[in-house]
Amino acid sequence: MIARVSLEIALRKEFDYLVPPGLAGRVEVGSRVQVPFGPRKVLGVVTALAEESAHAKLKPIIKVIGAQTLVTPKVLKLARWIADYYCCAPEIALKSVLPEVVRREESGWRERLFVRALPVSGEFPKLPKRQQEVWNIIEERRELPLTDLLALVETTATTVRRLEDRGLVEIAPQISERDPYAREHILPSQPLALNEAQAAALRMVTTAMDPVNEFVGERVSGKSHATPNAPPLTHSPTHTFLLHGVTGSGKTEIYLQALDYCLSRGKGAIVLVPEISLTPQTVERFKARFCHGPQQTLVAVLHSHLSAGERHDEWHKIRQGRARIVIGARSAIFAPVEPLGLIIVDEEHEHTYKQEEAPRYHARDVAVVRGQMENAVVVLGSATPSLESFYNCKRGKYALLELPERVDNQKMPHVRVVDMRQAARKEKGNLIFSPQLKEAITQRLERGEQTILFLNRRGYSTSLQCPLCGYVAECPNCSLSLTYHRPEQNLRCHLCGHVEPVPAACPNEKCRNPAIRYSGLGTQRVEDTLAKLFPHARVKRMDADVMKRKDDYRRVLGDFRTGKIDILVGTQMIAKGLHFPNVTLVGIIYADLALHQPDFRAGERTFQLLTQVAGRAGRGDVEGEVFVQAFTPFHPAIQYARRHDFAGFYEQEIEFREQLKYPPVSRVALLTLKGRNEEKVKFSAEHVRRELDKLKSSGDSESGKVRKWESEKNQMKSAGEISHSPTFPPARFQDLVIAGPAPAPLLRAETFYRYQLMLRTRAMSKLSHVLAGMMTTLALPEDVTLTVDIDPVSHS
Ligand code: ADP
Ligand code: ZN
Repeated sequence: MIARVSLEIALRKEFDYLVPPGLAGRVEVGSRVQVPFGPRKVLGVVTALAEESAHAKLKPIIKVIGAQTLVTPKVLKLARWIADYYCCAPEIALKSVLPEVVRREESGWRERLFVRALPVSGEFPKLPKRQQEVWNIIEERRELPLTDLLALVETTATTVRRLEDRGLVEIAPQISERDPYAREHILPSQPLALNEAQAAALRMVTTAMDPVNEFVGERVSGKSHATPNAPPLTHSPTHTFLLHGVTGSGKTEIYLQALDYCLSRGKGAIVLVPEISLTPQTVERFKARFCHGPQQTLVAVLHSHLSAGERHDEWHKIRQGRARIVIGARSAIFAPVEPLGLIIVDEEHEHTYKQEEAPRYHARDVAVVRGQMENAVVVLGSATPSLESFYNCKRGKYALLELPERVDNQKMPHVRVVDMRQAARKEKGNLIFSPQLKEAITQRLERGEQTILFLNRRGYSTSLQCPLCGYVAECPNCSLSLTYHRPEQNLRCHLCGHVEPVPAACPNEKCRNPAIRYSGLGTQRVEDTLAKLFPHARVKRMDADVMKRKDDYRRVLGDFRTGKIDILVGTQMIAKGLHFPNVTLVGIIYADLALHQPDFRAGERTFQLLTQVAGRAGRGDVEGEVFVQAFTPFHPAIQYARRHDFAGFYEQEIEFREQLKYPPVSRVALLTLKGRNEEKVKFSAEHVRRELDKLKSSGDSESGKVRKWESEKNQMKSAGEISHSPTFPPARFQDLVIAGPAPAPLLRAETFYRYQLMLRTRAMSKLSHVLAGMMTTLALPEDVTLTVDIDPVSHS
């Protein structure tokens, strides 16, 4: 017997090994094995078994790791799809489907000595006082770890050994699972009676899980490369749902009841939650419903804050089938749940579902693909769905479920947009707090209510904006904000490379403000100003710079919850699903900062951000108020967020995306070239551009322009239908748009220069394939690297 092994160290190659007689029957597809490789011993995964090999003199496998195969055939298939679609080496995709600790088998199960009471035969002996005390506890507990017992009765092991000598107890090693939630006391919860909208949504989801409606993923061969935005036609749309419900509309309760139904059908489930929302409270809500009595292990949790040992135990509980529900961040999508009935992706619009290093997969999209492969229902939930998912609903690929109201009938908070241009004109310059916001904060302090002030991620602006009229410099080709390069005093489009000088005064005819260059606002300045304006307020800042350890984050939130902080200043960190009943005011200091990022999703992000932040206010008995300060107060992203109007926002935003062929109308591949020598990087990027130009169909050499688009619209129905035979270079793309090369927004990151090219097409599976081929044949200087990011979520 021959095993084909994919090694972690050798990219894009597989090697044949002999299965020695001693391991016969233990080597399966998906087994992790140790094999000789030159003078070394390396780890790999068996990807196939065969009777014979084309190679002579094969070496035997050294050993098999783990009692069970670690990569199930289904997960293996998923990893292959990831390698194909996201244009990365199969080994890298394979590596990411197992947690490091499982892969390396660094820590196994933990064994501890347990003391167990044995049945007493005959008359119970008279024991010395100390031994009797120890026995009393053992008799009551029947079984407990030796160390726990010793701590309880404050005695030494000798006393317990005496009891063992008398034949009353047994001391033996046993596996003791590390439970990260052992110390939390969780009260069981019961299903709530659903309101009408919730019941209707749940019914759709459970119906899709019924056997008659099951979709047979393999019915049509050759469709396993289906991509989330282009599933094969055999896929009934009712197996992927988008649950669009405002914050507090009861989405989580639907998840819980759908999970219950899934378990009752004998299937397991995966729940994905963004890392930052994976708080103990979130996990407890799920454990409270499913983990009591003998069901202790039913819910497993996978996230980065677990110790290696805990992660090992949680993962194997899943693999052994004892845990049936997995809650976790991004990589939990690879959990070996079998059979899989349901995948839930909460906050599906979150960008953290995208992995920013190879393999650069998007967990939400992988979830949809896995759902199709394994015949599982997928529920994507959000208060502010991504344009991608909503677009898929409009096109009938996903089914839309809506929860338009909050469960408790509370009103959405009142959102006031403050025109900072007016305030700035009065104050003759940049200011941070408008009189309206200042007044509102003062009121809250007097009433003993709390305020959250929100400042965007970066404390400075990368765009050029006039503080008097709100004018923002934009690229004439791409409609993106131009990036302000202070040292060179110019404005650049990082997408197409357009460069123009910084204007001496505001170009707006009616404004002509000569001070346009001196805008800028830092987190530090907000804090300082706040301290001056409200010297007696208790203010705390929360962002990645200040919150170095996870304990800091918990402590500050705890202090805020218990009222020890009046004003919390923070970044995205505090925009997530936290409940603070005493917060009645939320201020967004400078909405423009998010709005004028040089990214085609800047508007979408701002809309999401404002909506999520607004959801923080008024979760208690008092109605909340939200102030949004902006220099462009009439921007659609701000106005639709003010009215809590997602559908309205979607309609106008999709029009912009249509016009410039941005996703979800097309798909993007972002190519980044990186190196220490700027000239070399630039030269290589231009070389890549020339190679890419060959991919365009003849006669369509004009760059940056979208041509023939309309006529091609119907030709690329399903990227999944395109054949995957090696096609480089003859493949041609009629709808390919290439922008760049241009310096990346952060041209120099950590002493590296970076240039980017952006490719847009509908046929992304095909393009990925071509790019993979190109990566292996392209001749680049040694110190210049090329990375490919398919469906990037940001281009910075
Ligand atoms: P979301 O996940 O959409 O933000 P949740 O599921 O957290 O909403 O629900 C918000 C609050 O309403 C929670 O405290 C939840 O327990 C409660 N809730 C949800 N559904 C119901 C219901 N049908 N009846 C009463 N309370 C409910
Ligand atoms: Zn441009």
